[in-house]
Amino acid sequence: MAERQTEGGAAISATIETRRHALIVEDEASIREVVAQYLELEGFATTQAADGLEALRIAAKQPLDLVVLDLMLPGVDGLEVCRRLRGASAVPIIMLTARGDEEDKLLGFGLGADDYLAKPFSPRELVMRVRAIMRRIAATNVPAMVLAGTLRFGPLTIQPELRAVHRDGAPVEVTAKEFDLLHFLASHPGQVFSRQQLLDNVWDYDYYGDASTVTVHIRRLREKVEMDPARPQHIKTVWGVGYKFQP
Ligand code: CA
Repeated sequence: MAERQTEGGAAISATIETRRHALIVEDEASIREVVAQYLELEGFATTQAADGLEALRIAAKQPLDLVVLDLMLPGVDGLEVCRRLRGASAVPIIMLTARGDEEDKLLGFGLGADDYLAKPFSPRELVMRVRAIMRRIAATNVPAMVLAGTLRFGPLTIQPELRAVHRDGAPVEVTAKEFDLLHFLASHPGQVFSRQQLLDNVWDYDYYGDASTVTVHIRRLREKVEMDPARPQHIKTVWGVGYKFQP
């Protein structure tokens, strides 16, 4: 309940919808129901979807704070739903999988669910995972989801799908090229690249800039990303060779 002023100035009590909203996507009604019950006990409002298309329709209309998504769904499967949700939003996703191969396959896909839970799972286990994700969101203030390909190095996160960089939860403004360079280096941790290799990989093929372009971008990136740009922790110079990203 919250106080809200009307135009006339009289205070009225209004119920403001502040409950977080969870979407549960599962074709087995009994599992869907149990998950919904437990999440409601956790304070979520819930919506259920029995297949992937319905899930996508709901997600397009309803802002969501959490998605519990079964992998094996009729029609559009959980992988595809996850991919499409990720294309449009940063909502945390917990994926339900069958134990074994499926789980391995999922991890191999690197699909970017925040967590995976193998069936059969206990509702309590699910609740623990949900709490962990919500705590992470509250702690970092970074959209919690691990988007496909998100890279985390201590306080630094690099999210290629959002082309976003955060440090200690605060957004770091980088130019498009700085982002490309950082992402390229961070995607090959520990690997040393010469300036020419970086030009070839990060700049367009028809770019005729010289190696000093790379030096300038490295310096700017360090100023933005490193705690102490003079003593970089991540973007390291390898003397006489080039640069590497130290995870
Ligand atoms: Ca299923």
